[in-house]
Amino acid sequence: MFSSLLIANRGEIACRIIRTARRLGVRTIAVYSDADRGAMHVADADEAHALGPPEARLSYLNGARILEIARAAGAEAIHPGYGFLSENAEFAEACAKHAIVFVGPTPRAIRRMGLKDEAKAVARTAGVPVVPGYQGGEQSLERLMKESAAVGFPVIIKAVAGGGGRGMRAVGRPEDFASALEACRREARAAFGDDRVLLEKYFAVARHVEVQVMADAHGNVIHLFERDCSIQRRHQKIIEEAPAPDIPAAVRAKMLEAAVAIARAVDYRNAGTVEFLYEPQHGRFFFMEMNTRLQVEHPVTEMITGLDLVELQLLVANGEKLPVSQPQVEANGHAVEARLYAEDPAQGFLPQTGRVHEVVWPTDIANCRIDTGIEKGSEIGSYYDSMIAKIITWGPGRNDAIEKLRVALDRTLLFGLKTNKAFLLSVARDSHFRREAPTTQFLEHFGDEASRPLQSLVAMGCAAWLFISNGNGGGPWSDMAGWTLSGAPRLARCKLSVQGRMLDLLVRFDGRLLLLSFGKERHTAESLSIERNSLKLLIDGVPAALSFHRWGPQLFIDVSGNHLTISEPEFSSGASAGPAEGSVRAPMPGRVLRLEIAQGTPVRSGDRLLLLEAMKMEHVLRAPVAGTLSDLLVAEGDQVREGDVLCVIVPEHE
Ligand code: ADP
Repeated sequence: MFSSLLIANRGEIACRIIRTARRLGVRTIAVYSDADRGAMHVADADEAHALGPPEARLSYLNGARILEIARAAGAEAIHPGYGFLSENAEFAEACAKHAIVFVGPTPRAIRRMGLKDEAKAVARTAGVPVVPGYQGGEQSLERLMKESAAVGFPVIIKAVAGGGGRGMRAVGRPEDFASALEACRREARAAFGDDRVLLEKYFAVARHVEVQVMADAHGNVIHLFERDCSIQRRHQKIIEEAPAPDIPAAVRAKMLEAAVAIARAVDYRNAGTVEFLYEPQHGRFFFMEMNTRLQVEHPVTEMITGLDLVELQLLVANGEKLPVSQPQVEANGHAVEARLYAEDPAQGFLPQTGRVHEVVWPTDIANCRIDTGIEKGSEIGSYYDSMIAKIITWGPGRNDAIEKLRVALDRTLLFGLKTNKAFLLSVARDSHFRREAPTTQFLEHFGDEASRPLQSLVAMGCAAWLFISNGNGGGPWSDMAGWTLSGAPRLARCKLSVQGRMLDLLVRFDGRLLLLSFGKERHTAESLSIERNSLKLLIDGVPAALSFHRWGPQLFIDVSGNHLTISEPEFSSGASAGPAEGSVRAPMPGRVLRLEIAQGTPVRSGDRLLLLEAMKMEHVLRAPVAGTLSDLLVAEGDQVREGDVLCVIVPEHE
């Protein structure tokens, strides 16, 4: 085995590769961009070297710089992980030129399998059925239209150089073809610098089943069984499992054989994945493409085979023989993986950026593995993929594995950023998913459900805020004018910023129940128990549980993966809730983003006054009373401290 390895990647995959290398006694060399100086992979490695600016082009994609570091640090090998330079044949060649081992296939195999059309030709020569379509060089609209008609609609247009679900459009009708082609070409040009496309028959009822292969330089090629990655959004995998459920044994055997045949046909080395579309109604499969690298979802294969794929990669890259032969590879039980992303399902899965204030992984669950590069205090920026972690569980049967995934997701807590946890949980709970093998259309009916915010979520958050601030004592939260939850019925009013939206909350407490009203909503809440960072309560008589994390004037709440951020309220007890003071203060430190009203203007109570940006969120500040804006004390762009008076309204009845 070589003695030193440079990991040309970041995040969870860099950490995962470092783990195996360290176990094998290999010195690990990390590289990092300016944005990743404090990242986990930097701390995990034996040594780390700066690459340059955050942009991938200038850092993790900068092959020349990475090679320079590798040589200076004495790295004998480079593991590219996935993404970035992992399927870059020129980089693999450059490594060889500098006598550094590239942990991956030969440049020739990367080149041949990297282009979807070339890969199909290889599959055909190996006698494997490919998805029917057109892969010709003639790219005129007329020709492509004609070929589509020959293939038969619906068709899918794919960028020849595509990957990661980009540069791909399904087209149902001939009249939509021209515009879809244009969009696809535009995307392909921007993402891959190559706008050539191919056409395929589009299979509406299909599953994505892929086979893991592994090959050494001594002519040994084996498969490590298959994975099912049908649960996709916008052609990107979200949940993966191994083995693929419900495939007839004879079909599975043929598919595994086909994958090995394709690998042999390109004289493949190292880890690779052969992807197929499987048509469950007809029990047929078609070759789609080959990925010449380690896949994101490789842990499910590791869970069922007990093999460490990175270890195998390092061994064969070092010229050794595969330590296992095909009959020695066994598949046991079932494994599922869910990808946790920093994104907001309610906003079309928009990636989220910000700081991870607190994170809790379910590390105490047996047969549950967490692959992550994120920890408390990590910043999630906009430069790279927004995946936070992969949560992988194993069980003797498929249902055991899925149930364990549900529990593991439930116990995963991340505060400070919105994630797709609630969305993943809804899939893990879904009876349809548990009952039968999903097709690639599975998530179509999930979109709406996950983006619908829980009706009572805001009420839950408000109640939580009140219970927590009074139950825990001390800190800024209990320091509220005259408000306690004990004693006689009390009435109070407060303004609460929930997800950056100011809420006028009226609270009545009758000794046991909290009555909350805001807008048209009315809810009752009763606290059952508060423990460390979790609260059990009854909302409208229905039991609910939530977890929370307090950070300065903010309270982060997780209700089954639905995230809520509440910031410190302006509080007034019922008795003194009369005419509110006309001064508008900054509820937290921040920056004035926009003034929405000019000095001297009349305002009604609740009118928008200005927009404050604080903790990466926007907060609308509204007029507390009707009157005239007499003093505007800040300008756009001003930094303000908490409690600063921003403007003053002279109430109209004075
Ligand atoms: P990428 O290389 O961008 O990942 P793939 O060619 O692997 O793209 O396709 C990604 C996903 O798109 C597949 O897993 C599948 O769900 C869907 N897909 C691709 N081709 C077809 C097709 N011909 N019919 C139906 N679905 C398809």
